[in-house]
Order: sequence, then C-alpha cells, then structure tokens
Amino acid sequence: MTRLIFLGPPGAGKGTQAKTLADEWNIPHISTGDILRQGLKDQTPLGVKAQSYMDKGELVPDELVQEMVQERLSQVDTKSGWILDGFPRTVNQAVFLEKLLRILNQNGEKVVNLDVPDETVIARLLERGRKDDSEEVIRRRLEVYRSETAPLIDFYSSRQTLVSINGNQSLEEVTAELKKVIAS
Ligand code: AMP
Repeated sequence: MTRLIFLGPPGAGKGTQAKTLADEWNIPHISTGDILRQGLKDQTPLGVKAQSYMDKGELVPDELVQEMVQERLSQVDTKSGWILDGFPRTVNQAVFLEKLLRILNQNGEKVVNLDVPDETVIARLLERGRKDDSEEVIRRRLEVYRSETAPLIDFYSSRQTLVSINGNQSLEEVTAELKKVIAS
C-alpha cells in the first residue's frame, strides 16, 4: 500500500515523477493543479473561482482545495493507495490533511521532498511553457512556495520521516531513487 505526498518547488518534477510511479503501481495520481485546470476547462464553479488565483501564481484559497481533496480521497479507487502532487501547499492544508486521513482511515503516508535549486526550477518552468509559466508568474509562484509551502518541510520533519531526494538529476535517476526510498 503506497500513500505518498510529494513536496517541492514548482518545476521540481513532482508531476512527472508522480505520474510515472502512479502508472507503474496502478494507483491514482492526485494532482490538485490538474483537477483545477480541468475545472477551468469545463468552466465548473470551482474552476471559475480558481482561475484568477492561478493566472497570477497565487494559491487558491485553502477551503476550495481542501473540499476538492476531501471529495477525491473519498472515492473508492483511493483504497489501493495514492500519490498526492501539489497538495498540501500550506501548513493549514497539511493540518487538514492529517485530520482527513485519520477520519478516512488512510494513515501511514510517506512524505518525499524533491530538492531542486532555483536556477533549475526556473529553466524547467520556462521550457514547459504552460499558461501560468510566464516569467512574472513563475517568480510569484516561487515566492509563494518559499513563504507558504517550504515551511511544510519543517512541519513534516518534526512529525514523521520526511525524505529529501536530489531532484537535480535525470528523470530516470530521480525515479530510481524514489523507488528505493519508498521500498525501504
Ligand atoms: P500546479 O499544477 O501544482 O503547479 O498548480 C497550479 C496552480 O494551481 C497553482 O499555482 C495554484 O494557483 C493552484 N493550486 C494547485 N494546488 C494548490 C493547493 N494545494 N493550494 C492552493 N492552490 C493550489
């Protein structure tokens, strides 16, 4: 049973790694960014509410994402495990998730931090060319990461084992390291 939380700055390669491992293990890859982007495309009330935040590189309000994650983790396919990518992103969200997993009886998660230097992150994001990957928005997303999301490293270090992996290697090398850590 694998329950995995991915931490790391935008552009660290969380999405790619999460997708690869989820496919291999046949468990859901739950990316809050993907769910929000789909909502935007379908113009759901949630997507419409989230758009202005996403366009600016700001975080969507906690309550909106939390409700979304609660709904997703309550679906039956999560019984076999999951990989969370892009959530939690604030200490508030992490506290919420801790309670939620207890209620859903889904504890025992592992937390992995993908460590990548700023220059690599910026280069990767510029290359990716997503709508919210303009230079100005990237800069804002990194600021938000530092102030809101990086504190989660301490949050999880003090609670359970948090494993840091050097994300500044090839895709394959990172995948191999992740598998080793998760198996241990
Ligand atoms: P991502 O695909 O993870 O880079 O997320 C893209 C955008 O979606 C972020 O810049 C935020 O605006 C929003 N978002 C995704 N996940 C969260 C979250 N857990 N909390 C708040 N906003 C989020």
